[in-house]
Amino acid sequence: MKDSPLYKLASRAHKSQDTVIDVRGHRIGGDEIFMIAGPCAVESEEQIHQIAERISNLGIPFLRGGAHKPRTSPYNFQGLQEKGLELLRDVSNKYNLGIITEVMDLSLLDQVYPHTDILQIGSRNMKNYHFLKELGKTDKPILLKRGMDATIEEWLLAAEYILLGGNEEVILCERGIRTFDTSNRNTLDLAGLALAKELSHLPIISDPSQATGDRKLIEAASMASLAAGADGLMIEVHNNPEVALSDGPQSLFLNQLDEMLPSFERIATAVNKTCSWNKEPEVIKV
Ligand code: PEP
Ligand code: MN
Repeated sequence: MKDSPLYKLASRAHKSQDTVIDVRGHRIGGDEIFMIAGPCAVESEEQIHQIAERISNLGIPFLRGGAHKPRTSPYNFQGLQEKGLELLRDVSNKYNLGIITEVMDLSLLDQVYPHTDILQIGSRNMKNYHFLKELGKTDKPILLKRGMDATIEEWLLAAEYILLGGNEEVILCERGIRTFDTSNRNTLDLAGLALAKELSHLPIISDPSQATGDRKLIEAASMASLAAGADGLMIEVHNNPEVALSDGPQSLFLNQLDEMLPSFERIATAVNKTCSWNKEPEVIKV
């Protein structure tokens, strides 16, 4: 890495202290481990209610769920779109959960904005610079996935586009990169995560689901991410992963998430952090 990086606002030289983002009373960054869980895609009312109920019973503060899905094949399930967004808002109110969902395109921003607390920008859009500039004008936190072919510097420069627009609430998300080794869906770049944390004050969470593509690897990848300095995790879970319309093989069964939380708590203790799922929730309606 060069001595003076091209990014400025995202750098530790600009701000040495960790940025801590407050969403619905939960802190992303700093000394709390943030947790997001939910299906890859919102598929039906029954599906999202079952998952949301379990997540909220576990004390997990945030639900993920795609309403517009960036699928490799146009023949695959594309998401419930506006109906999916409405379902997310229903479960947010019923189970007091924060929502994160992807905005795939600038033309969808107005539709997605009112239904979510955090705007997710997908790996495929990390280099969509015009879109990033426009997101800089919004006033909701942005979760910026690392492009699957992006260097750490390109990722931080993408964050810089958003920061330059005036939105200071950028959360980085490591979701694995493409390497020569296709044994896993992607390669979780743990050293890259640690390096990004050192170079930037922005909070970073890890997405072990897209990174591994395999539910058997989620626990290890999550624990390793937290040990490497991740400020949180975003994990895919499903009430019936075997029939999931997207990313079933990497989605945990609901009881598996339950069983993994103690492992995450042990790492949290080792790195001197608390866990967002053990906090008393604030009741917020949108
Ligand atoms: C997802 O989170 O389901 C997703 C599509 O992520 P990514 O943009 O990292 O592929
Ligand atoms: Mn997915």
